Amino acid sequence: MSDCIFCRIAKGEIPAKKLYEDDDVLAFHDIHPVAPVHILVIPKLHIPSMAELQPEHAPVMGKVMTVAAKLAREQGCTDGFRSIINTGRVGRQEVYHLHVHILGGPDVLPAMLKR
Ligand code: AMP
Ligand code: ZN
Repeated sequence: MSDCIFCRIAKGEIPAKKLYEDDDVLAFHDIHPVAPVHILVIPKLHIPSMAELQPEHAPVMGKVMTVAAKLAREQGCTDGFRSIINTGRVGRQEVYHLHVHILGGPDVLPAMLKR
């Protein structure tokens, strides 16, 4: 996907503050952080959203989650963190390349949703 911003970051065409990279997975700092720790973890494969996940994506998504957990620990989120995957219009997804947000920091996260 040549016009996908996260594919372009994965190819090195657009700079990002990378934290981790292997053949299948890339992690970088969110450009507009909303918490002291705000990391994005993506499969390099262009999957538009979580709604498009197929059984064959299970291995790479397993790697994405494992990398996310490792980076959260390394960034100091030893007392917990929040992982968010926004999906589609209702989920207010802005970038249509599947990504996991990792949000953390000392007691900065509000309750997930108001009841
Ligand atoms: P979402 O609403 O889940 O699609 O979130 C997309 C996220 O991507 C937002 O938090 C943006 O701040 C972030 N973002 C957009 N462009 C870039 C970029 N070039 N580098 C890093 N993060 C970005
Ligand atoms: Zn993409």
